[in-house]
Amino acid sequence: MQTTFTAEQLADPHVEESEKILRKCVHCGFCTATCPTYVTLGNELDSPRGRIYLIKDMLEKGRPADEQIVTHIDRCLSCLSCMTTCPSGVNYMHLVDHARTHIEKTYKRPFANRAIRSLLAAVLPYPARFRTALMLAKIGRPFAGLFDALPALKPLSAMLKLAPGSVPRRSRNSSPGLHKAAGTRKKRVALLTGCAQAVLDPGINDATISLLTRLGVEVVVPRGETCCGSLVHHMGREEAALVSARQNVDAWTAEIENGGLDAVVITASGCGTTIKDYGFMLRLDPAYSDKAKRVSALAKDVTEFLATLDMPEPTVKPDLTVAYHSACSMQHGQKITRQPKDLLAKAGFTVKEPREGHLCCGSAGTYNILQPEISAKLRDRKVKNIEATGAALVATGNIGCITQIASAAKMPVVHTVELLDWAYGGKKPAGIRKK
Ligand code: SF4
Ligand code: SF4
Repeated sequence: MQTTFTAEQLADPHVEESEKILRKCVHCGFCTATCPTYVTLGNELDSPRGRIYLIKDMLEKGRPADEQIVTHIDRCLSCLSCMTTCPSGVNYMHLVDHARTHIEKTYKRPFANRAIRSLLAAVLPYPARFRTALMLAKIGRPFAGLFDALPALKPLSAMLKLAPGSVPRRSRNSSPGLHKAAGTRKKRVALLTGCAQAVLDPGINDATISLLTRLGVEVVVPRGETCCGSLVHHMGREEAALVSARQNVDAWTAEIENGGLDAVVITASGCGTTIKDYGFMLRLDPAYSDKAKRVSALAKDVTEFLATLDMPEPTVKPDLTVAYHSACSMQHGQKITRQPKDLLAKAGFTVKEPREGHLCCGSAGTYNILQPEISAKLRDRKVKNIEATGAALVATGNIGCITQIASAAKMPVVHTVELLDWAYGGKKPAGIRKK
């Protein structure tokens, strides 16, 4: 694609990067067929190619964002399905991240939208605040229908509907600490315990620590770790995202330099995609660029890390058929497709893959709150495909997908690592026990 940026515009490193991305796009449109919003809405402006044109126009003219571009960029899930499909290697992720930052800096959203986004940014990344909010949501839940009547308040309704009926007890494993390997130590890793995940399903970190330590891996939960920053990053709040990124880089660098790390293990693929991008996000910060690259190189999804270990024979044979839902951040963001399924099969589960596996379930961070209607359509389509497999349960590697799919599916939805821990001698996942 030809571009007409001036030399002055290209002096801005963010514009320079976006220009390189734009020039790679040959407008072939292959990406439209696999874009969930294009498939759902049928509008070219809700396709990757349409959005690329809108972003190009906005950046090239150096103009503030307007309502049209905000509407279509807000509808993008950042699922990155377009990047998997694109034959030209267009880095849509970095382009849309730049567009979102530009929107945040140049567009004044309507009051209710601004207030809801600020509320999400102030609550979700902080486990104690998020826990309190979930408890309050229990009280507010009966009023969800009232908010539905006012379009500007629909996100509040979506938030209340998504909140679980009860909040699990906090796990000690979410606090900083050292979990020694059973027997001879083979590896040492840092575990990102996460923000929303640690509150919604502490059993995921428990299962990860239980499984890894039994396999001879020492697990450290470093002091100073925080939310990976992806929630605010996807809202265009770049500075807030970089503050989180720097804090995590510091926490993990301290561990690398004191004891060494074989990996930074992540159990939410949405976080994994962002942490693997820290090297890029902090490239312009001389104090952090090298450290961030080192952290990104060490970042591994838990299944990616487990696939490098010698797994023993499973101790439990659950004889269950599992539908594996590959989160977008797992398959498109991190290109991890084989390892979770191979690990589940090796552990004795029969693995089924639902049709249209490349399409997003509609969770996408805060998307299911901010775009509840499109999100619900994608969720129902996903659940229909999952149920058609006839599987007894669903396994996936991202807390957002677990919450989203579980809000409509009849079968249990659990994290892949919980099933693996169970098969190799750990506890049966709470999600299965409950249903
Ligand atoms: S598939 Fe790639 S090159 Fe083709 S229109 Fe989409 S982004 Fe551009
Ligand atoms: S990230 Fe997903 S929703 Fe956004 S343009 Fe690409 S395929 Fe479409």
